[in-house]
Amino acid sequence: MIRSPLRRYPPAGAVDVVVIGAGHAGLAMSRCLAERSIDHVVLERGETANSWRHERWDSLRLLTPNWQSRLPGYAYRGADPDGYMSASDVVDFIDGYSRFIGAPVRTHTTVTSVVAEGCGYRVATDRGEWRCRAVVLASGAHGLPAVPAAAEALPKSVTALTPKTYRNPSQLDDGGVLVVGASASGLQLADEVQRSGRRVILAVGEHIRLPRVYRGLDIQWWLDAVGILDERYDEVDDIVRARRVPSPQLAGTPERATLDLNALTERGVELVGRLVGVTDGKAQFSGSLRNHCAMADLKLARLLERIDQWAADHGDGPAFAPPERFAETRVEGSPRLNIDLARERISTVIFATGFRPDFSWLHVPVFDHKGRLRHDGGVVAAPGLYVLGLNFMRRRKSSFIHGAEDDVRELSAHLDAGLRVAGGGHVPRRAVG
Ligand SMILES: Cc1cc2nc3c(=O)[nH]c(=O)nc-3n(C[C@H](O)[C@H](O)[C@H](O)COP(=O)(O)OP(=O)(O)OC[C@H]3O[C@@H](n4cnc5c(N)ncnc54)[C@H](O)[C@@H]3O)c2cc1C
Repeated sequence: MIRSPLRRYPPAGAVDVVVIGAGHAGLAMSRCLAERSIDHVVLERGETANSWRHERWDSLRLLTPNWQSRLPGYAYRGADPDGYMSASDVVDFIDGYSRFIGAPVRTHTTVTSVVAEGCGYRVATDRGEWRCRAVVLASGAHGLPAVPAAAEALPKSVTALTPKTYRNPSQLDDGGVLVVGASASGLQLADEVQRSGRRVILAVGEHIRLPRVYRGLDIQWWLDAVGILDERYDEVDDIVRARRVPSPQLAGTPERATLDLNALTERGVELVGRLVGVTDGKAQFSGSLRNHCAMADLKLARLLERIDQWAADHGDGPAFAPPERFAETRVEGSPRLNIDLARERISTVIFATGFRPDFSWLHVPVFDHKGRLRHDGGVVAAPGLYVLGLNFMRRRKSSFIHGAEDDVRELSAHLDAGLRVAGGGHVPRRAVG
C-alpha cells in the first residue's frame, strides 16, 4: 500500500493539490501524486465510485472486458477475465483500489466553487475551504445528460428519462417507448425495454457499429492490439470532431453477443432517423437513417480491413480465426418521418443522447464561447489546473477506466514539474508527455 504524505486530515486547510472527485480517474491521480510525495486531498460529494452507485441503470454491464479494467498499480484479478463487470462490481473494483492506495478521500464533501487566488486556488466546499496550488478536475465527463431542446416540447403525458434516471422496465408507464440515440446506452436500453414486452421505436443518428467478437477475440482486444485506443489527441486531423464521436454500439453480456441495429430490428424494434423536433405532440425524424447506417457500415468495413492488415503483419496463422464480414444494416422500406406520440401510445421517451461534464462551480475563465473547457490534453488553460476523463482527452481511451493510467502518469509529471518551479507555483501549460 502506498501511504499518502497527508496522514491526518484537518477539517479543511492548505494543501498542494485538491483533486475533485473520487471516481477511478481521481483515485488514479491520487496514486500518482502519492508516488511523487505530493501533498493532496481528494474531495468527493458522495462516496468513492459515486456515479457507479447512483447514476447507472440496474442491468448495466461494462462494455469493456474485465482484463481491460486496470488502474495504476492495480488490475482485475478475478476468475473471469473475459466477462464484463456489473455496476456493483465496478464499485467494488474502485473501492478496492481506493483502499489499496490509501487515498486521502474526503467523502460527503461537495465542491461548491473554485476560484483563482494568488498563485493557486481557493476551493469552497460544504465542509469548509481549501487553499491549494493546483486543482485536478476529476468530477467526470458524464455529469449531465445532454438532452436535445426537443425534450421541452414533449406533451405532459409523456415521461422523459435519461440513462441517469432510467433504472429498469418496471418503472415505465404502460405504452410504447421512444429511445433517442443509438450508441451504447441507447442500444442497450432499447434492447432491454423491447424484451420487457413494450413496443420500442429507436431514433438513430450518427453511430459506431462494432461486432462484440471478431475473428474469435473480443473487439476490445483488437482495438488495443492495433493501437487504436492509444491514438493521441495531437496526432488526429480533427480533434474537435474526434471528441464528439459517440460511444460504440457494444454491450457486455455473458453470451458475448453482438448488439447492433440488425439484432434490434429482428426483435421488433422500429428504426427511425435522428429526432429533429417535437411539434404539436408529433415527434419528427430526419430522413438520414439510411445514410447514417451506410456510414457506420463503411467505417466498420474500414476498421476490419485495418485489423486484418495488422493480423497479417503479425503472423496471422492459426492464432486468429479467419476474417469475417457482416451483413449491412437493414433499413426497412421508408422509415417514418413523424410519429404522433398520443396516437401511437408512446408514454416514455428515453434520451440516450450523450453527456457533458458539469463544471458549474468552476469560476475561472477557462471556457470557450460554447462553454467547453479549454485544455491541451488535460492541461487546462489556467496555471495549475488539470482535467481528467474527458472524451479523447489525451488518447482515444481517455474516458475509459483503462485510459486513466497513461493520462495521470503524464499529467502528474507535468503538475509536479509546475509545483517545483521556483518562487511561485505557476505550472507551465504546454508540452506534456
Ligand atoms: C452509462 C455509462 C457506461 C460506461 N461504460 C463504460 C465501460 O464499459 N468501460 C469503461 O471503461 N468506461 C465506461 N464508461 C465511462 C467511464 O468509465 C465512466 O464514466 C466513469 O465513471 C468515469 O470516471 P471518472 O472518474 O472520470 O468520473 P466519475 O466516475 O463520474 O467520478 C467523478 C466523481 O466526482 C464526484 N463529483 C462530481 N462533482 C463533484 C463536486 N462538485 N464536488 C465533489 N465531488 C464531485 C462524483 O460524485 C463522482 O464520484 C461508462 C460511462 C457511462 C456513463
